[in-house]
Amino acid sequence: MSATELAAFDREHIWHPYSSMTNPAPVWQVASAQGVRIRLTDGRELVDGMSSWWCAVHGYNHPVLNAALQRQLQNMAHVMFGGLTHEPAIELGRRLLALVPDGLEKVFYSDSGSVAVEVAIKMAIQYQQARGKAHKSRLLALEFGYHGDTLGAMSLCDPQRGMHHLFAGLLPQQFFVAAPRTRFDADLQDASSQALLAQDIAALRAALEQHQHELAAFIVEPILQGAGGMRCYHPAYLQAARELCDEFDVLLIADEIATGFGRTGELFACNHAGISPDIMCLGKAITGGYLTLAATLTTRHVAETISQGEAGCFMHGPTFMANPLACSVACASIDLLMASDWRSNCERINAGLAAGLVSLAELPGVQDVRTLGAIGVVEMTANVNTRMLQPLCLEQGIWVRPFANLVYLMPPLVATDADIQLLTSGLQTAVRAYLEQATRNNPADFV
Ligand SMILES: *Cc1c(COP(=O)(O)O)cnc(C)c1O
Repeated sequence: MSATELAAFDREHIWHPYSSMTNPAPVWQVASAQGVRIRLTDGRELVDGMSSWWCAVHGYNHPVLNAALQRQLQNMAHVMFGGLTHEPAIELGRRLLALVPDGLEKVFYSDSGSVAVEVAIKMAIQYQQARGKAHKSRLLALEFGYHGDTLGAMSLCDPQRGMHHLFAGLLPQQFFVAAPRTRFDADLQDASSQALLAQDIAALRAALEQHQHELAAFIVEPILQGAGGMRCYHPAYLQAARELCDEFDVLLIADEIATGFGRTGELFACNHAGISPDIMCLGKAITGGYLTLAATLTTRHVAETISQGEAGCFMHGPTFMANPLACSVACASIDLLMASDWRSNCERINAGLAAGLVSLAELPGVQDVRTLGAIGVVEMTANVNTRMLQPLCLEQGIWVRPFANLVYLMPPLVATDADIQLLTSGLQTAVRAYLEQATRNNPADFV
């Protein structure tokens, strides 16, 4: 098929994420990707500012990851995990348990982040049932949160900004509490920051106190709320959450699907606060962006309690559980990460993003510019018209995908200073051109 025919088939028959089949947004066809560059079929090369949604931390087409997959292919691509086991799953388990916060000792593999969240929900509920507390069957989550697109995960996403009203009759009813407003870098010596933190914590305490008899768990994206708003909050809030969950006999679930594997400047975002959750969800960067895999980890206590409950086992078992190809590339990706200087890479990228984006904060139409680890966020005052902004980014040779009112960069951790420079200067130009166009169309949004 010619390039035009391929594009026509795509437009006519293939769904893209959150896309319309009657008014499809443009998509660009990728021929290949290498390192931090995505090459389109029309020959254009783009610097990747997205890591393919947090995943491709080592860049694309990495020889070490390719070799790991080729080696595993010679043994087997897949076998069922019921009644069988294999070295890639065991080796990955060993690596994960050595890296995650203390106390997490049991690993459940699944195929995607959303399913890892479903698994976490079921673990929390089976745990409470097994302790004779079946009334504790709901979850508490933060406003502005994002935990995935399947029904259980969706029920935990921000109730206003998420999809709750569309699926209202079907979704489990959960409880929500205001998201913390104390910024990650707030100075707690400062009286107003202290007061804000105290309010944030008081709101969480009130919610846990009020609903404790119905709550199985409190789920949070530690430190960084990702797809629900790219908001970064202070580690002291997470420390308080850990203590309050214990006080009110509620499990703490850390959804580290976006934050895990170094993105925020610590290997896991929980490490910023020095806390261990009762359940932790991992996904996205776990395979370095090669294959879909996720894991839900928990403590010996939670796992043993579930196992002694009515069912006598944990009630979940995906067909592609612990896929050997995915596990072996995950092992190779983790080894690469640990052998790299990921922490200084993050600091270097952070400095480059901050220096390159900060001047956007002065523009009318820009609400805030913030960075955390290898993440740079430009929050606009109004929702971004992606169809307008994205071509402007492509003109600059950068791949950026805004959502809602957020334009952000999340480059692979191997991006060089020169790559970061291209990304930030390209984004500067694109955002400025966008704001000029957008102000002309809709001035009220940009004051
Ligand atoms: C992306 C994401 C998920 C869902 O993962 P999928 O692999 O897309 O199903 C869940 N939680 C968080 C915090 C995420 O960023």
